[in-house]
Amino acid sequence: MQTDSITITGTAQREAWQRRVLPPVEVIASGIHSVPVVFPENPMRYTLSYVLLDGDECVVVDPGFDSDEGHRQLLDALARLDVGPGEISGIVATHFHTDHLGMAARLARDSGAWIALGENERRNITAFEDAQEESALDQARMRSWGVPEDRVAEAAMSPQGLLDMRMLPDPDRRLGDGDTLAVAGRNWRIMETPGHTPGHICLWDDDGDLVLSGDHVLPRISPNVSLEIRGDADPLRHNIESLQRIAGNDHYEVCPAHEYRFRGVGLRARALEDHIAERSREVLEVLGKGAPTVHEVACQLTWSRGWESLGRLQFRLALSETAAHIRYLATSGLHAGVPGLVAVP
Ligand SMILES: [Zn+2]
Repeated sequence: MQTDSITITGTAQREAWQRRVLPPVEVIASGIHSVPVVFPENPMRYTLSYVLLDGDECVVVDPGFDSDEGHRQLLDALARLDVGPGEISGIVATHFHTDHLGMAARLARDSGAWIALGENERRNITAFEDAQEESALDQARMRSWGVPEDRVAEAAMSPQGLLDMRMLPDPDRRLGDGDTLAVAGRNWRIMETPGHTPGHICLWDDDGDLVLSGDHVLPRISPNVSLEIRGDADPLRHNIESLQRIAGNDHYEVCPAHEYRFRGVGLRARALEDHIAERSREVLEVLGKGAPTVHEVACQLTWSRGWESLGRLQFRLALSETAAHIRYLATSGLHAGVPGLVAVP
């Protein structure tokens, strides 16, 4: 099946996506199973977890968001593969976001499994002493981005949101660029793909022509790249470089953490790069009209759901995505930037 350039291989997954139901648990290749784990109250709907089996070894890649329902979905799928909750040996998260690393702590508690993250993944967003104080700092940051006073609280991280992030587990293992992870009879080659987060990784099976791509490339949507508190100073630049790194592997089957499987990773990466370039041009044009703040720029951009309808998290993401573009244009020497983007805390 052909859409634009990529070939959708997860046809049952795509059909489920269109019907707005959970896709089936599937065997992708010998020892590799995909398991949908619900992501409640989020437009992504679910995370595709990958269970890698090899004799007594069971490694779960991106276990998903920590909810009772998601936990049950994952354990049910494991039970059908004859793996008990105490028999998970390892957990790898492609990045630290709650819909990937979220359930790791609960699974590790019941199994003693090790948890691995990319070498450069730093949950800097949790590097604070006092959640109230950190939230106030973020509110000040939103004011400096020109967010109107009545929407500052909505745009900023709340103390509770910050504390929730702190609940995420720290890794026992780090996976760096070029490392290999031997599991499911394969040698998974780790590739660092910063952008969506500073330490995002993809796992390549070069013998089986397969890649577990996390959120780096998805078949339909373009993953969010944001200027975050204490995060990467130029995430968009790193994301573009990470997209260029994966070019030329179009025969690989891409197993993403959301939506559905496809073939044509290089084609998709180029399409995402084009999309970023187009967006950057739009941001530059709005800046050229004299928009003085991040907020002013953001509200003049086109948003698929409409600027007015962007609720809490979407509003914050829209602002921090705009900020990432402005920073990228500034570091590219194409624009002087706007106030509030000079210092990166
Ligand atoms: Zn995700």
